[in-house]
Amino acid sequence: MLFEKEVWKEKLEQRILVKFGTSLEEASSFEIYQALGDTIMESIAKDWYDTKKKYEKKKQAFYLSSEFLMGRAMGNNLINLGIQQEVIDFLKEIGIDYNQIEDEEEDAALGNGGLGRLAACFMDSLATLNLPGQGYSIRYKNGIFNQYLRDGFQVEKPETWLRYGDVWSVVRPEDEVIVNFGNTSVRALPYDMPIIGYGTKNINTLRLWEAHAIQDLDLGVFNQQDYLHATQAKTLAEDISRVLYPNDSTDEGKKLRLRQQYFFVSASLQDIMKKFKKVHGREFEKIPEYIAIQLNDTHPVIAIPELMRLLVDIEGVKWEDAWEIVKRTFSYTNHTILAEALEKWWIGLYQEVVPRIFQITEGIHNQFRAELTQLYPNDAEKQNRMSIIQGNMIHMAWLAIYGSHKVNGVAELHTEILKERELKDWYDLYPNKFLNKTNGITQRRWLLKSNPQLSAYITELIGDAWITDLSELKKLEQYLEDEVVLNKLLAIKQEKKEELVKYLRETQGVDINPKSIFDVQVKRMHEYKRQLLNILQVYDLYYYLKENPNVEFTPTTYIYGAKAAPGYKVAKGIIRLINDIAQIINGDNEVNDKLKVVFVENYRVTVAEKLFPAADISEQISTAGKEASGTGNMKFMLNGALTIGTLDGANVEIAKEAGEENEYIFGMKVEDIDALQKRGYDPRTPYNSVAGLKRVIDALIDGHLNDLGSGIYREIHSLLMERGDQYYVLEDFEDYRRKQRSINRDYRDQKAWARKMLKNIANAGKFSSDRTIMEYAKEIWGINEVR
Ligand SMILES: *Cc1c(COP(=O)(O)O)cnc(C)c1O
Repeated sequence: MLFEKEVWKEKLEQRILVKFGTSLEEASSFEIYQALGDTIMESIAKDWYDTKKKYEKKKQAFYLSSEFLMGRAMGNNLINLGIQQEVIDFLKEIGIDYNQIEDEEEDAALGNGGLGRLAACFMDSLATLNLPGQGYSIRYKNGIFNQYLRDGFQVEKPETWLRYGDVWSVVRPEDEVIVNFGNTSVRALPYDMPIIGYGTKNINTLRLWEAHAIQDLDLGVFNQQDYLHATQAKTLAEDISRVLYPNDSTDEGKKLRLRQQYFFVSASLQDIMKKFKKVHGREFEKIPEYIAIQLNDTHPVIAIPELMRLLVDIEGVKWEDAWEIVKRTFSYTNHTILAEALEKWWIGLYQEVVPRIFQITEGIHNQFRAELTQLYPNDAEKQNRMSIIQGNMIHMAWLAIYGSHKVNGVAELHTEILKERELKDWYDLYPNKFLNKTNGITQRRWLLKSNPQLSAYITELIGDAWITDLSELKKLEQYLEDEVVLNKLLAIKQEKKEELVKYLRETQGVDINPKSIFDVQVKRMHEYKRQLLNILQVYDLYYYLKENPNVEFTPTTYIYGAKAAPGYKVAKGIIRLINDIAQIINGDNEVNDKLKVVFVENYRVTVAEKLFPAADISEQISTAGKEASGTGNMKFMLNGALTIGTLDGANVEIAKEAGEENEYIFGMKVEDIDALQKRGYDPRTPYNSVAGLKRVIDALIDGHLNDLGSGIYREIHSLLMERGDQYYVLEDFEDYRRKQRSINRDYRDQKAWARKMLKNIANAGKFSSDRTIMEYAKEIWGINEVR
């Protein structure tokens, strides 16, 4: 985009005058932020419209996801438009600090973690690759809660990103639709966010639905002065898009959640059908030729019976024909093998919330039962295992697989586990449905935006083609022996670490040694991710350093960031444990010049952008087989952090790409866990035999550590010692500690370290979401670039 200073200045002034009744000179940072946002929106309006027109007649992909963890838009939009530097310079000329303006923006935090952030990265890649793809979700009034620490415990406060409106959305009243539930109907009002690709005029769309009552106010009741009940319908309707469920990887079986799912799915499908009919009329058999719908996890799977309803009930298509259309239109991504995350709905509730959809779901179930009886006449157990409705429960994953033409896992190992275990019956029945799509991240946000120093240097060395083709990074390998390059890499890492130190000093008042190793574990708090293993190792290290005051040791800072689901007691207990141990270590003058522990409050996209570039070590230590892919691991790698990790999820592919000798791989593999399970695992074995382990486990209950009377440490202790340690924290402890010690030694050879950094960066190409999206486009959706 062409940037003209004078024009922008005039537009800004006008906006500020109209919207805030003040002048550019007098305007606050917040007012300037809003006006700048509006100006950007205005400048892309025509391209946005043109893109929509161009896509109308092409095959399009629709990405249905209950979460989009977008983060901030301002910086990303300016970068993708190619005018960031011009805007920064222009603002400076008129005495405004761009960073201050950028900091006015709240994260659009409509997601929990990896699954929602993946959806956001996919949007960026679709637009950048000129692919006709659109996202659909809910415009939650409150995104993921804000996290504060009080006495080392997590406290949740509501997030309010829409308090003063959102400059990056445009309401489209003409596209409003009605969604019918069993006993009520609500209005679904769409807000569109432009998705600006890098270096293209195409602008894609993320459409978010907001729920409203058909009628906000019952005037009769109001006139009887019963004000609360007069607005009851309004409250009930608006509840649907009020709040994002703050769970990660657990099935929250709540009525409101089902209402949310049906709400956005029905609105989106009605919207898709309306657009289809506008171009193709009633040629419904052409739907799969023009429409591909991706179901991101089981949350939107109710789309399958909903499309059947729209075709059969509304359009009068024959059931058999409708089913053919449905099967060829949908595809489904599985994100987890954790049993508790595969959604199941109790039929009573499902029937109450969406009675017609229940009938259709039953119809699909009966049809599949008939097929199963034919297929496996002598295996009643298998027929039952694979049934969509089992007893009182509807299995959404089974409905998804039956109603889709493709089913994908999100990393090679994960897809193999699905095929061999969790979904074996299904893979045996439909081998051609299954395929792998290893996750990715967008390098525009996770390198170009978050690490401008490293970006500029890479561009200086190999040109800027990596911005849209990350495999270009491989060219960096020619510098593996170049001391100038290696030193510069270290210098940039140092600069990013100092930026983080400054940020944490200003926001949390902590002091960190910027010369120490930054060992970072940031992700949702979950037992399977094993933050507990990490902190127990740190606590053991603390004793080691106290007992060996003169041992050679590179100062290390352990940095954590994680939200716990509010109802997940053990996860919250681990947050307290980390902060408890942090207080002990940081307050002990015998060790605190060598060892430090920091818990970063309110981990979110905007903080993540500061953490990944500053990390020396990426902690990816999940129990093997439990992390489907991970994407944080990829962001670290791209920014030159070395991984300490298990062979789990995409870690396997990261180690393969960069070379296992450039990472710190430890612990049991999936097959080791199988073997151990077969032998019988007893956590008391490592507890009694691994030096130091007993001490840190006992500390949970012997008074060394203090959970402030909550009893949560005893619970954690019992999970480890009495209830089988199902995530193998004790079993993997020794090997993990060994690798931690190797890191501490290896870091002292800075040249060798820098080579490993470079090896990681140079081989991160595979992990671009551009690669992932290109594979979806070709192998699942059948969509093509539209220039
Ligand atoms: C990338 C990202 C995640 C996912 O992290 P994992 O380590 O893959 O679980 C979660 N939250 C935020 C804010 C992220 O940016």
